[in-house]
Amino acid sequence: MSISIAIHGGAGTVRAADLTEAMTEARHEGLRRALRAGFAVLAGGGAALDAVSAAVCALEDDPLFNAGHGAVMTDAGTIEMDAAIMNGADRRAGAVAGICGPRNPVLAARAVMETTPHVLMIGAGALGVARDAGLVFAPPSYFETPNRRAALERELVRRASGAPDTRSDADRHGTVGAVARDAAGHLAAATSTGGMTGKRAGRVGDTPIIGAGTYADDVCAVSCTGTGEVFMRYTVAAEIAARVRYKGETVAQAAGEVVAELATQGGDGGLIALGASGVPALPFNSSGMYRGYVDAEGMLRTAIHREVFHIVNR
Ligand code: ASP
Repeated sequence: MSISIAIHGGAGTVRAADLTEAMTEARHEGLRRALRAGFAVLAGGGAALDAVSAAVCALEDDPLFNAGHGAVMTDAGTIEMDAAIMNGADRRAGAVAGICGPRNPVLAARAVMETTPHVLMIGAGALGVARDAGLVFAPPSYFETPNRRAALERELVRRASGAPDTRSDADRHGTVGAVARDAAGHLAAATSTGGMTGKRAGRVGDTPIIGAGTYADDVCAVSCTGTGEVFMRYTVAAEIAARVRYKGETVAQAAGEVVAELATQGGDGGLIALGASGVPALPFNSSGMYRGYVDAEGMLRTAIHREVFHIVNR
């Protein structure tokens, strides 16, 4: 069984015209750092679950992506993060919603999975699980970046003025995620996000909802990014797995069709999906999606908009 990993840094991409060469390179390098972290786990004989944890932690630590350090802000100026992780072989899953504290929210989701009988936790209880698991905590100032504060302020001014929403995808949203298959053929998925800029405090998106933004079983692993409310209503990740299992569609076919259908329903975004073939599907209907995977030759392939993939040696 060959190992495989794919990641995304969200559909909240900076417009191509606004990306300088240095900004472009920083984003490709951020994606490559996450791919290397996840692939190293798999290459060392590690589990898909550990690979997606490592890749998502790397993306959470990178302020360029909307998760962990650099998460977007609510309309109250707070940071409320959602994350989930799922192990396909036994369908164990863990998720947290609306939290601010653990430096890596995906590890809090994993702690829910591994140390409690529950799947989704919020509030002080979720933080308590993370603390009991010995996770590193950070103050709100760690997660906040000047760019995200400025994006919120622009959005609040726009709302007050009643002007139409012409924001770039980067100003509106983003997420990070990973899917992997290990040498034993087991699949896993993980997703982490700050959600949508200016979301109502208390709002939860699709990311921590198992079957909507995150899902893994024995036929495929899926991590989504986009307009969370639509992804929830279409149970996007579970829909792809069901099409593969019951309709015999390939992962690429199922993922492509669902993403195309979402586009007609206001579901702006995309996803990464991986199944038995080990070839990832990375479809999106938005202007771009930060994304990458390690190809069969072991090369790192990353892309932002619809351009060809940048290919770099590991
Ligand atoms: N899906 C995320 C949410 O709704 C946002 C995103 O992926 O851009 O919270």
